[in-house]
Order: sequence, then C-alpha cells, then structure tokens
Amino acid sequence: MMTLWIRDPLGILADNAARGIVVEGGTIIECVPRGEVPVTRVDEVFDASRHVVLPGLINAHHHFYQTLTRTYPPALSKSLFGWLTTLYPVWAGLTPENLRLAARLAYVELLLSGCTTASDHHYVFPEGLEAAIDIEVEEAEALGIRVVLTRGAMSLSAEDGGLPPKSVVQRDDAILADFERVVARHHQTGPGAMVQIALAPCSPFSVTRELMRETVGLAERLNVRLHTHLAETRDEDAFCLERFGCRPLDYLEDVGWLTDRVWLAHGIHFNDSEVARLGRAGTGICHCPTSNMIISSGFCRVGDLEAAGVPVGLGVDGAAAQDSSNLIQEVRQGFLLQRVNKGVEAVSHLDAMRWATKGSAACLGRADLGEIAPGRAADVAMFRLDEPRFSGHGDPLAAIVICGAHKADRVMVNGRWAVVDGAIPGLDMEALLAAHHRAAREMQRI
Ligand SMILES: [Zn+2]
Repeated sequence: MMTLWIRDPLGILADNAARGIVVEGGTIIECVPRGEVPVTRVDEVFDASRHVVLPGLINAHHHFYQTLTRTYPPALSKSLFGWLTTLYPVWAGLTPENLRLAARLAYVELLLSGCTTASDHHYVFPEGLEAAIDIEVEEAEALGIRVVLTRGAMSLSAEDGGLPPKSVVQRDDAILADFERVVARHHQTGPGAMVQIALAPCSPFSVTRELMRETVGLAERLNVRLHTHLAETRDEDAFCLERFGCRPLDYLEDVGWLTDRVWLAHGIHFNDSEVARLGRAGTGICHCPTSNMIISSGFCRVGDLEAAGVPVGLGVDGAAAQDSSNLIQEVRQGFLLQRVNKGVEAVSHLDAMRWATKGSAACLGRADLGEIAPGRAADVAMFRLDEPRFSGHGDPLAAIVICGAHKADRVMVNGRWAVVDGAIPGLDMEALLAAHHRAAREMQRI
C-alpha cells in the first residue's frame, strides 16, 4: 500500500506530530515528532507548511432535508413547537428527488467545512419516501464522506396527542421493520466503517412509548446505537409533565434509554442530579449551539456534563430557522456560546475543537475516529491561514477558532482526498446549487 507523509504542518492538533503524519491506505500509521523523520518508508510527500491540520471534524446531529426549508418565511421567528408545526405540512411534500439534492448539498457543505464524518437524523417519511436512508447512503458513497445515518421515526400524530400531522407519521410496526431492513442493508462494523446506521425515534413528543421501548431491544439485538432529541426546550418539560407525569430524562430512563448506547441531541434543560445521572450512564450529548441560539432554547451545560463524565459532541443541527451546515463555523459558535455561559477561563479553543472531534466520535461510538494518532482512521481537515481574517495571527490552532475559519483547503476521508484546493473534485457546484435551490423554491411554494 502507498504511504503519504503530510509533512511539516503550520500547526497540528496531535501529540508529538510537529513534523506531520504518515498515512497508509485508510489509516494513520505514524506521528513524526519535532526533529525526526518517518520511521516508515514514504512513497509520497505532501508539503503542509501552509496548512493547519486537524482531525477530521465529526458532525453528530443534523437533518439534511431541512436545507430545503432554510429561512422559510412563515417560520422565521417561531419557538421550536411553533416552528415545527408550521413546517411539518411543508416537509410532507418531500420527494426522493428533493431529498437526494438536500443530502448532496449538505454533504458538500459539510465536507468543504472540514467535516469527514456526517450524522443525519431523518425522521420524515411521507408516502413515497420509504427509501430515504438508502438515498442518503448512495449520496455519501458518491462523495466519499463517512456517515452514521440515523433512521428516524414519528408515530404519534396530533390526533393521538403528539405534535406532527398524520401525513408524516408511520405505524410502529412499519418503523421497526424498516429499522431492521436498513441495518441489514447498510450497517458496517469494525474500525474504518464508512457507513453505519443508528435507530432514532424523533423525540418523546412524536413517538409512542411502545416504540421507544421496542427500539432499545432491537438496537441491543442488532448492536447499533440509539439517538433522539431530548431536553431542548422548556415546552418539552411541560409536555412531558403533562403527558407522562415526569421530566424528560425520567421518561427516557423509564423507556430504557438511559445507557451508553445512546446519544441525545441538545440536552439543555437538565438539573444537577440529572447531569450526574447522565454521567453515570455514559449517555452522550450533542451540543448544537447555533440552533440553540436561533430558537433561543437555552444554554447546554457542556462544562458540567463533561465534568460528570458525559461525552459531549457537536452538531450543526438542521433545526434552526436559518440553518447552516458549516461545522468549523459551529466550533466557533460553541466556543463563543460556552464562554458566555461559563466564563473566559472555563472554555478554550481546544475545548471547542475536542467537542467536534473526540467528543462527537464518542457520541457515535467510534473509537477509530476523532483523533490524529497511529491506528486511527486517516480522516483529516486542513485549513490555510492566508485570508485577511487570519493575517497577523500567533497561535495557528487558536486562529482557526478565534479568527473564524469557515472553509477547509484540503480534506482527507479514509486516506482519500475528498476536498482539494477548497473544492470537491468532479462536482459541478453550479448545477447542484441551481437544482437544490429550484427544489427548495418548489417546496416552499415561492
Ligand atoms: Zn435536531
């Protein structure tokens, strides 16, 4: 197998790798310390002297299809429940063709921002869109991005006391059968897996208690991970108290979900004892700062959660009225929001980078990702600091977060360059943007 030395980076987020790293196939095999040369025979060299090298960023929560309803005018200034109920009927019009464009656009935006592993939470299955996950897998494979796709679900319609309309919910038995189908068809195991599937009922207010319970048993049998939204808003606390007579985390525990197989999106409104319970269980939390700010959901207690032993990852989410899929930008957003929340000394740029790398990898249950070290997958994101916003920088790693990097120059996934000179080789960007924008305008009826 060919070996590549990514040599002499301007900065690198790794231990003892001042002279770079050596990659063989899809794996990092060596970190080269200051003053040394690789021990391994090197076939090719990439001069990284103008690049800051980070572990490939990992997005732990998203809804690709929502790129089609960005800044939808009727939903612009609504809180979460109002935003959702305004958009459900629009999303009911989602077609396989539209979802394909949405997934492609989201992958492209993520890759160009340094993301090498994308998770998606797709939970809208109107009639005709049964192959949603299959479509997302095909698009990921075409672009060479690693994915952990979560098969979402809604089964509790407004008629039955839930939030979504009947047009977008499915029956529990159909959902469980499709969980099994997509895992059997797409889920890969072992280090370096490019496609994985997790099971993901949308939220406590959109599925039945039975579905939550049965999904745990199925995930254990199939050995896949579990994901859902929890504790995002105060409205959700009120909903749970009224419907279930308990708080969201109590409900989660009651249905068997308070385990280390689970990662939760948002995880904002937890009290001290709930933070401790999450830590004891090892349940992961995906922090989604921009979404939380736009919907004004509140502050995720990232520092407290990590101190309690909770793995905390980072996600761009799709669920904000002005969403973006730029993950390196989200690192900065997380850094800023948590600084406001916890104070200057409590949060550094390295903390924010950890959430988007090791933290997200832990949420997804991936020990092979999220770190530049021998034996880890060869996923790296490389940024140049030659734009005006970086000029005059000191610490190159801090510059990425604090000066505000927004575009990767080179991205490697599984040892293969997926982004070269700030572009995706072979992609007709103009055609994609035109088709995606047309599809969005049709859905929004503009
Ligand atoms: Zn979400």
